[in-house]
Amino acid sequence: MRSSPAPAVLSFPLLLTLVAACSVDAPTRLRQLLDGRPGADDAPDAVVARDHPDGDESSSPAAPSSTDRPSGGAAERAVVSLTFDDTFADQLVAVPMLQAHGMRATFYVNSTRIGRSADYRYLTEGEVRELHAMGHEIGGHTQHHVDLTASDSDEQRRQICDDRAALAALGLDPRTLAYPLGRRDPGVVAAAEECGYAGARITNHVGASYPIALPATPSFEIPAAPSVSTSTTLDDMKREVTLAERTGGWVVFVMHHVCVDCGSRSAVRPEVLQAFLAWLAPRKKDGTVVRTVAQALGAEARPPRRGPALFGGTLGDNRLKNPSFERATRSPGTIDCWVLGTPGASAKHFTRVADAHDGAFALHLDGVGRSTTDRRVNVTQDAGGCAVDAAPGERLRLRAFAKGTTPMRFSAYVRDGAGFWRSWTSSPSTALGPEYAEVSWTLPAVPDDATAIAVGANLPSEGELTLDDLDLRTAP
Ligand SMILES: [Zn+2]
Repeated sequence: MRSSPAPAVLSFPLLLTLVAACSVDAPTRLRQLLDGRPGADDAPDAVVARDHPDGDESSSPAAPSSTDRPSGGAAERAVVSLTFDDTFADQLVAVPMLQAHGMRATFYVNSTRIGRSADYRYLTEGEVRELHAMGHEIGGHTQHHVDLTASDSDEQRRQICDDRAALAALGLDPRTLAYPLGRRDPGVVAAAEECGYAGARITNHVGASYPIALPATPSFEIPAAPSVSTSTTLDDMKREVTLAERTGGWVVFVMHHVCVDCGSRSAVRPEVLQAFLAWLAPRKKDGTVVRTVAQALGAEARPPRRGPALFGGTLGDNRLKNPSFERATRSPGTIDCWVLGTPGASAKHFTRVADAHDGAFALHLDGVGRSTTDRRVNVTQDAGGCAVDAAPGERLRLRAFAKGTTPMRFSAYVRDGAGFWRSWTSSPSTALGPEYAEVSWTLPAVPDDATAIAVGANLPSEGELTLDDLDLRTAP
């Protein structure tokens, strides 16, 4: 007699195991993610150090039910928020686990990553909408995952407000923000508030009162437990919760990838997450509840607001903003839309001079700069205030008028779909003389993954340069 067939209904833990296993073994979309090499996104997180893993938080519960709202009642012992940053599609592995326990999480996404792939696949618009429809919160994480403290105030507002507006346009109701890399200063906090967010998450609780006292009040510095990494154990995660239970508080977990051996340290193992949620779920009866960040804050919906218009208004055929160095409206020694020398360093070798080819000013490099980074000028690599929108395959020509004592080269950078900039290509060197002459270079076809480009000029060897009237347009 044959043994009975296996029961048709799988236990939930088994189902989750299968979900995780299939994701690894089957040629699914998740496979692409799990096979991904370490993402560029991990680099900034790693640089910022383990206590400053990047954080993402935004809240936009689709329709938070009244039972999910903070009640302020005495029965509430602790609140746990589960946040997933950076738009990684491998986070979908967590969704059936969350749904099985009726838990809602917060996904902090970068609007420009939606539907794209770089080192990892990112969530598609359909997936993000579905998460929102399930009651998960979709929050903002800026357009391009930049260090906001290194951006000027207009760029901060474009990165935060325009990201939020893009998410709102998809019907995602973003209510909270996570600062990329957790980086913020008073100016960034003000921008987040101006853009309509009700709160913002950082990425650690060093120096903060933690767990956060309940009831939570709107805050733009919501601290979080140390970001979950491949070395985080189930006991580590439990400990954060039991601490919050003892003191009565709100604990926020920050997660990035959900995967096994996917090349990132910023990953929670699916089985660890599964075990943690299974341990957490029954604690609800004792007053430990899981809420999205927006729910925990009681965040209200607010209308989106755009950041400042891009530099220069409508552009002509020349795609560069401030191509002749005429505009210098920011801090002394800077020129709008141009990075002079080493980014963040003083532009000590550059000055605007009246010896222009056309207009009032040209840019002059004094010939003393000894390092190659001292001897270069590049378009600011930003969300589009200065950077040039470019379509894959497009052919562009860059021209300038220049004079100097040593040969000059043009260079170009691209921004990929994930918002990261990389060096792309350089022109051959062109000899310069004592009088202005036109230098021209037709760039290779714009790479397939490019969303924007930035161009510049540099001197491979020591010398003097005067540069004016740059022009970047469609190649004839
Ligand atoms: Zn991030």
